[in-house]
Amino acid sequence: GKPILEIKDLHVAFKTYAGEVQAVRGVDLQLEKGETLAIVGESGSGKSVTAQSVMRLIPSPPGKIKKGEILFEGKDLIQISDKEMFRIRGSEIGMIFQDPMTSLNPTMTVGKQIMEGLMWHQKLSKDEAYQRAVEMLRLVGIPTPEKRVNQFPHQFSGGMRQRGMIAIALACNPKILIADEPTTALDVTIQAQILELMKELQVKTETAIILITHDLGVVAETAHRVAVMYGGKVVETGKVEDIFYRSRHPYTWGLLGSMPRLDIKREDDLSPIPGSPPDLFDPPKGCPFADRCPYAMHICHDEMPKVTEVTSGTHQVACWLEDSQAPSIESRGAKVN
Ligand code: SF4
Ligand code: MG
Repeated sequence: GKPILEIKDLHVAFKTYAGEVQAVRGVDLQLEKGETLAIVGESGSGKSVTAQSVMRLIPSPPGKIKKGEILFEGKDLIQISDKEMFRIRGSEIGMIFQDPMTSLNPTMTVGKQIMEGLMWHQKLSKDEAYQRAVEMLRLVGIPTPEKRVNQFPHQFSGGMRQRGMIAIALACNPKILIADEPTTALDVTIQAQILELMKELQVKTETAIILITHDLGVVAETAHRVAVMYGGKVVETGKVEDIFYRSRHPYTWGLLGSMPRLDIKREDDLSPIPGSPPDLFDPPKGCPFADRCPYAMHICHDEMPKVTEVTSGTHQVACWLEDSQAPSIESRGAKVN
């Protein structure tokens, strides 16, 4: 069908004292109704900035959406009024973050925070909203919701706060939920519970989810499709099986090679591949991965690889190795994992 969200040629930059960082450089992404799209990549790859652009949460200045379209049900979220965006944020697109404490209001009970959106956007009465808040807390697995609804965030444990934030985000039945590293700060058991909860809720509510993570274990557990970002660009997109079993991009191979065991919590961000990410003050004109890629050819440094359809409409890769003129990887003597 028609995607519920379509990001087209998105460019986002940030002004700093050292110059302008080109954080997102021509991102194209589509989100289908009811699916989970994972955006993976190292810190600084542009994944959070892409998500924040959808919510129009890029601090401006110093940030600026320089170009592109973000189409939600035919409306360009970059162009609509602040008022319209406020409405969409409260009722059509919800967001959860890594650290609930930064987005929960410490001076307001969790129940009130759930009720706010319901009263503002859904025009429920106070009583109805209160009942719905209790229901939502029960739905996200918070014990004794009748009591918890009147408590403040600091009275909740870390895992419960994350559940509370999910309850707030989902209370208005959003069509899209954006989750930026939603479980990174949690211990493994709680992390697994939260991911399981998100999956269950998605089946119930048919919400489409954009899940931002650096953890491929989380992707394997939750996503239907994956977009791999590097250096402000999407380098590969595919169904989760395409990415895990048939990936075609050398950066994706590097990520997979460093895949953490599911039962071990990673404290650090991924840095499995020797070398460092490209300088986005002065982005390379060719493939962003060229300096670290064991298969790089001359053309990789000079020209941006075009996007090739590996499987039409589902699996795309931006790599010169897909070019019909490219030598085979085997003949180049580099090792494929
Ligand atoms: Fe490596 Fe070239 Fe492909 Fe970039 S385009 S990933 S440098 S082979
Ligand atoms: Mg981030």
